Amino acid sequence: MADVTKDHNKLVYCANCVMPSTRPRISFDHRGWCNACVWAEEKRTKIDWVARRAMLEKICATYRKKDGSFDCIVPVSGGKDSSYVAYMMKHEMGMHPLCVNIIPPLEFDVGRKNLENFVAAGYDCLRVAPNPIVAKRIALRSLIDYGQPLMSWIINVQVAVFKLAIQFQIPLVMFGEEGETEYGGSSKLKTSPVYDIEDSIKLYLSGITPTCFLDEFTEKELYWWLYPSEDEFRRVNLAVAHWSFFENWDPYHHYLVAKEKCNLEERDVASIGTYNNFAQTDTCLYDLHTYLMYLKFGFGRCSQDVGIDIRRGAMTRKQGINLVKKYDGEFPEQYVGTYLNYFGISAPEFDEIVDKWANKSLFEKSNRRWVPTFSPS
Ligand SMILES: [Zn+2]
Repeated sequence: MADVTKDHNKLVYCANCVMPSTRPRISFDHRGWCNACVWAEEKRTKIDWVARRAMLEKICATYRKKDGSFDCIVPVSGGKDSSYVAYMMKHEMGMHPLCVNIIPPLEFDVGRKNLENFVAAGYDCLRVAPNPIVAKRIALRSLIDYGQPLMSWIINVQVAVFKLAIQFQIPLVMFGEEGETEYGGSSKLKTSPVYDIEDSIKLYLSGITPTCFLDEFTEKELYWWLYPSEDEFRRVNLAVAHWSFFENWDPYHHYLVAKEKCNLEERDVASIGTYNNFAQTDTCLYDLHTYLMYLKFGFGRCSQDVGIDIRRGAMTRKQGINLVKKYDGEFPEQYVGTYLNYFGISAPEFDEIVDKWANKSLFEKSNRRWVPTFSPS
């Protein structure tokens, strides 16, 4: 693909949603539709969901235990999607899930409340609080080196889930969405119901290998950051699956079910940089994460939400463009003090990191803020 970022005002946009050509691993078909939109169309027209549901039944039948022990792990945040998956695994599939939650850094009150509501609806949940001193330092390093303030937590979620599965000898892990296929990245997992440890590292950690933090911390300190060995992984014969493989992934439907069955609550106001108030309400680091994504690639949280709504037929592209112009890339001003405090850095140091990640071909600095030199069309 040509490096379109070098060309002022020449971002190429998906003809169906508003995703630009700068999104990593995006591709376009002959109509100019991005891979996420093509996939949404295939989900409606080509995928045999009855057959996939039968595959799920078969997998569950293979792993379902009758001796009272846990037979699957469902990672949960208390958000709409994971609550939905846990609900379905427990009540529709008749499984006995151990729900695992990794406490996020700078957790929002609404996120904590939602997890409490979820557990109160009748679930067994194990909460892991990784060493916050290590977590903070790795988060800062990932922010500086990769522009990824959430990376430490993302690593924890994957690693803790695998380590607990091995520890408790629970051979099935059911994640929620397989984001690469769903939102337009690699489609390696589009036709495969399970994935292995190499996929996990490559696809979910952007290639960051957590062993790199051994230059600063011991193996003990990195317990929730270091992947189990391949041998351990294989000894349990762990099957790792995503719910989105078996059922048409519909975040809005999940929201409705989670609200009804698990007492999910929304934020009082829309999240920063978008128009909805019920997605990704775990931590204010997500607001920084999507702001930096916007500076790197020219699309932010609103573009993502608009894509989801256009693909489910709830919004026109024109409406989407208007929303993106209005909300995308909003600076998370109100949390800056929280960030400085958490990372232990000064305001100029924070600005320097933000400046480092701003794509100078897409943004110009004006009044201390980066403003786009492109416009979605
Ligand atoms: Zn698209």
